[in-house]
Amino acid sequence: MRYIQPMHDDWTTRHPVQAAALRTAALINCLNDGGSVVDVLREHGEAEPIEVSAADLTEMRAAAVKLRKVFAAEDVDAAAAALNELLARNAGWLRLTSHHGRTPWHPHLDRDDDAPWGEWFLASSCLALTVLVWDRQRPPGGVCASPTCQNVYITQGSGLPKRYCSRRCATRERVAAHRAATRA
Ligand SMILES: [Zn+2]
Repeated sequence: MRYIQPMHDDWTTRHPVQAAALRTAALINCLNDGGSVVDVLREHGEAEPIEVSAADLTEMRAAAVKLRKVFAAEDVDAAAAALNELLARNAGWLRLTSHHGRTPWHPHLDRDDDAPWGEWFLASSCLALTVLVWDRQRPPGGVCASPTCQNVYITQGSGLPKRYCSRRCATRERVAAHRAATRA
């Protein structure tokens, strides 16, 4: 099973690409800081039972390192180039699946519905990030500008480009900048 279940507020079925992209960022951050991948998958609507082996985690970590290059891209051209490289090396044929009628039809780039977690993670992330680039003509996200944080984030909506992964990081850096300015 590799699919997003309809959620209580049906947010993910109305914004499936954004939901998949947010899941990508959450998984990259979780794999980087040693959190529970199963919890993140569950929070993002993955169907139970969720079984992720140590070998799966190793593959997912390798995928996360590759995907990070898309988030680190300076501009939309660099993000597109990073995605093209990943797509050329890692994606299968574009196909549609409804997971035997359990979900709305949606596109997949992994080879089949029972592909290993690492392959699914890389392919589904590439697909979501590719659609975001197509739709918005800007990088799909970024790496947190805080020097003490390595999180990636997805740029949401059409507002100003954000620089931090979270309000927490933005506040901490604003306070630090203020202190430095006061000292000067
Ligand atoms: Zn951060």
